[in-house]
Amino acid sequence: MGCRERRRCARLSLNGLAACADAFAGLSNCLVRFADALIPCGCAICRTAIPADGPPLCGLCASRVASVPTPWCPRCGLTRVIPGPAVGQCSECHSWSPALRRAASACLYVGPAAELVRGFKYRAWTRLAEFMGDLMLAPARRLVNGSVPELVPVPLTKAKRRERGFNQAELLAQEMSRRSGWPVALHLSRERGGPPLARLGRWDRAKVARRAYSIRSGAAGLAGPRSAVLIVDDVITTGATGVACAEALDAVGLECLGIVSFARTSPLVGGG
Ligand SMILES: [Zn+2]
Ligand SMILES: [Zn+2]
Repeated sequence: MGCRERRRCARLSLNGLAACADAFAGLSNCLVRFADALIPCGCAICRTAIPADGPPLCGLCASRVASVPTPWCPRCGLTRVIPGPAVGQCSECHSWSPALRRAASACLYVGPAAELVRGFKYRAWTRLAEFMGDLMLAPARRLVNGSVPELVPVPLTKAKRRERGFNQAELLAQEMSRRSGWPVALHLSRERGGPPLARLGRWDRAKVARRAYSIRSGAAGLAGPRSAVLIVDDVITTGATGVACAEALDAVGLECLGIVSFARTSPLVGGG
């Protein structure tokens, strides 16, 4: 086969792959809607019968969604029982970049809360976003302290978003926006490449995350001078994602007030 034929074959293969990717994206979106319809009519955790127009959890499971015990570290929002290397510092957040001012979460990533996150993210129970986004408003209000921020969801790579059919952080931000009136702003993008952060340890997470997030082209021009922004995610683990996103936002002059999540892992309890 000559050089020209090989190039033509390669082009045809690439066109075929792109068509396949589009077809899979369509299929993936259909599956998301189908899976969403499969959320049990009963409690999303224990399947006990509950009213169809109420929250997706029964009273018992809702009572087992554990908030982060006080006293909180004023910066990272975790229970302040582990001292940092210096007086007044917390061992969880003392190494965070100054770009990430604060963090707060609705609950601990344990028990029913962890099951909700897994159902939402991996089984596409996207209707849970309404319940989860609602619980995130109180910690978000603590962080914004009366100002009106833009809600900036932590992005997925294009490939991950296509595979999943949705970005869980974006759905949570939309639900928070519906209740608060704060606008959602897709200022960030997630680059391709690198292993998923969930598989990495603390130090590798920070290294990989720092390279992974950047400002979408044109996003800086959309915001006014020093516009306030609040990062939104489903789970905070080490804070590495929040730090990387906050640094990217800070670099283009946006005032990052912190990161809010539905759940928070804690070194004091099993992550589940
Ligand atoms: Zn239940
Ligand atoms: Zn802390």
